[in-house]
Amino acid sequence: MAKRKIRVLFAAFEAVPFMKTGGLGDVAGSLPQALLETGIELRVMLPKFRTIPEKYRKKMTHVTDFNVSLGWRNLYCGVDKLRHKGVIYYFIDNEYYFDRDRPYGYFDDGERMAFFSKAIVESLQYLPGFTCDVLHCNDWHTALAPVFLREFYQGIPLYENVKAVMTVHNLKFQGRMSDYVLGDILGLSDNPAAAAQLRSGYGTVNFMQGGLCYSDVLTTVSPTYAEEIKDPFYGEHMEGIFRRRSDILHGILNGIDTEHFDPASETDLPANFTASDRSGKAACKAAVQRELGLIEDPDVPLIVMIGRLTSQKGLDLVRHVLGELLTHPIQLAVLGTGDAEYENLVKDYALGSGGKMSAQIRFDEALSHRMYAGADMLLMPSLFEPCGLAQMIAMRYGTLPVVRETGGLKDSVIPYNKYTGEGTGFCFADYNAHTMMFTLLAAADLYRNDPGAWNKLMDNAMAQDFSWARAARDYAAIYEQLHPERKRTV
Ligand code: ADP
Repeated sequence: MAKRKIRVLFAAFEAVPFMKTGGLGDVAGSLPQALLETGIELRVMLPKFRTIPEKYRKKMTHVTDFNVSLGWRNLYCGVDKLRHKGVIYYFIDNEYYFDRDRPYGYFDDGERMAFFSKAIVESLQYLPGFTCDVLHCNDWHTALAPVFLREFYQGIPLYENVKAVMTVHNLKFQGRMSDYVLGDILGLSDNPAAAAQLRSGYGTVNFMQGGLCYSDVLTTVSPTYAEEIKDPFYGEHMEGIFRRRSDILHGILNGIDTEHFDPASETDLPANFTASDRSGKAACKAAVQRELGLIEDPDVPLIVMIGRLTSQKGLDLVRHVLGELLTHPIQLAVLGTGDAEYENLVKDYALGSGGKMSAQIRFDEALSHRMYAGADMLLMPSLFEPCGLAQMIAMRYGTLPVVRETGGLKDSVIPYNKYTGEGTGFCFADYNAHTMMFTLLAAADLYRNDPGAWNKLMDNAMAQDFSWARAARDYAAIYEQLHPERKRTV
């Protein structure tokens, strides 16, 4: 067999700049480019959502179309193609499933994800010039693809050498559906072995579990989370599978897009700054204080929270001490959307705070950059955190993270050591509201009283390398292990 590059199809439900609701969008938007640089031939597959900006939609070209069977259904599936920043993207086109206002949150999400997963596998025989070696799936939205691959396509020669890699970005979301789905949508009710691997608990079909059982390699997005999920506290009832398959489970810490998040060059920031000349950061802080209706004061530490307002992100700890925290000389600005109880909580406190707190309840990418750039600290007291990107982004802007030591937060933030001055942020271990508050207040004290130590921490934080190159090398090594006959060519 002639030597050629390993070919990987990377399938996800969201990817920047086409669709983003959270960290998965960031990862799927930037890891592929880094993977190409390792000598892998890689293409990305996404749904063709209505909300993809028109400037991209109009550049897409039609590649092929075919029908996909899903239970008793026989469905149209188009594939469009777009080259963006050197990466080839395929978009799965079915208006019934994807021509909607948002990516998730519909009564038929199970059917939509099953369709997408089946379409991915079916498409492998229709992509000109691309014979897939590795199918890399991400989270529950694509977790059925390895199941379909083995149960419906295994005997077809083209599919025999396709290996499946499944990455867990967040185990909390598993795609648990009624048992009815097994026959009506998946077409697997007559297959007891498949049913046994897909069922989790009485009357429930679990898409994520299917992916975990059928994939050749499992990865998750930080080494610590890869260990944690073998434990019932973090395992979300999948811990048994992770323990059983621990020899094929890898934890690879995510990176961030260091061009997209770059205080030195972004044109939309009030001022730019670098690690060696941070004077522009003061202008960013003043501007964001003004923009958010906070008292404009360079001396008061500005703490930001940017992310989903859910219990995962530690909002229960915040709720418990928010009133008390606001009696101290700090400012808090929250940007996020999520559960109504937390949205209302932060809005209520912001209203009565007299310019000490601001709550922005929306998704606003540009504002998030201004907040990362203008803040002194980022609070991220997560109950669990598979990787977390916000803390890495914050460090890139010299904004010191205050985090609970869990998952990727533990792997990416070096705790401040007051004896050596080492560290890139502040950490606490207990899931306890006052422990969080005292850690924050100690950090705020350091900010006010020891600018030398604070500046050293900012130097350390800004010197961290969170680019994707390291993670990409680790993923490429996994692909290579699955296909030792295909060496990379760079
Ligand atoms: P998640 O668990 O949601 O994936 P991550 O920290 O891994 O959390 O990634 C969240 C990403 O989404 C970060 O890039 C963060 O800046 C961004 N983000 C989250 N909420 C908002 C928001 N309301 N506005 C702008 N960006 C947001």
